[in-house]
This record gives sequence, C-alpha cells and structure tokens, in this order.
Amino acid sequence: MNLRYTFDDMKKVDRSQLGEMVPLELFRTIRLIGLNQGLPLGGKGTTLTIGRKIGESLPVTSVEELIMLFEDLKIGLPRIVHSDEHKINIAVEDCFCKGLPTLAEEKMICDLEGAILEGALTKILGRKISVKEIKCNATGHEHCEYEVKLSS
Ligand SMILES: [Zn+2]
Repeated sequence: MNLRYTFDDMKKVDRSQLGEMVPLELFRTIRLIGLNQGLPLGGKGTTLTIGRKIGESLPVTSVEELIMLFEDLKIGLPRIVHSDEHKINIAVEDCFCKGLPTLAEEKMICDLEGAILEGALTKILGRKISVKEIKCNATGHEHCEYEVKLSS
C-alpha cells in the first residue's frame, strides 16, 4: 500500500452513477471562492505552492506532452506564441476563466494554472524558471497568457 496518492491514482475512478466528470462551476468555486477569496492575500503563496506541486506531479517529460495534458485535463488549450533563449510565451485559449465577468479590481485570476506550468516546466527543462501571468480573459484580454522566464 502506498503512503501517498500519485497523479496516476487520480485516474482510478469507480463511480457507478456520477462517472468521472465534475462541472466546471465546481472547479471554479474551489479556485476562486475557496482559494482566491477564502485565503488571506488572495491565497497568493498557497496557490503558488499548490500549483507547483501539481505541476511536478504530472507525468510529462516534454513541453509537447505538457501541452497535451493541459488539453486532456481541460485546463485550457495552450500554444507557444513566442520562444527565444530568455523566455517562452504560452497563450491559453478556452481557459477555465473564459466567460467570467471582470471584477472591479480587474485581477488576473489564473495564477494556479501558471504555477502548474512552472512546476511542470522546471521538471521538464531541468533548470530554474519562473512563470508570470501577463494576460487573462478576466481582465479583458483576448486569451490568458504566461511568460516563462528562463534563467541561465
Ligand atoms: Zn485567465
């Protein structure tokens, strides 16, 4: 018997009536009302810790696999829109936030997804990187976008 759950365990679903899917509004509720609005300081540090841990646990060994898994998990449809030796820009279409109203504060809200990318890309690339959210549907942009800074 294992001491901890792995990502592989998460796929083991045996529900006879409700199946393997939960609605997007539940995911949003956990993300935005639970984490973002429920924790002090918008859950900033906690969300980063959670996201990195999730990213590290994903069974991916290349950027292509990571992009496919993001799509399989319906987190969004990522695509690389810029790439050079210093940075990679990843746009995400159909992000979980698509359709939400813009709040008075005009906050970008996809910090968890960026932290997941950070955790996964750190593992894949084997170097220190940092991910910053630079665009979000929720602040009126055409898609969500992350800037991945590659340190030398
Ligand atoms: Zn977003």
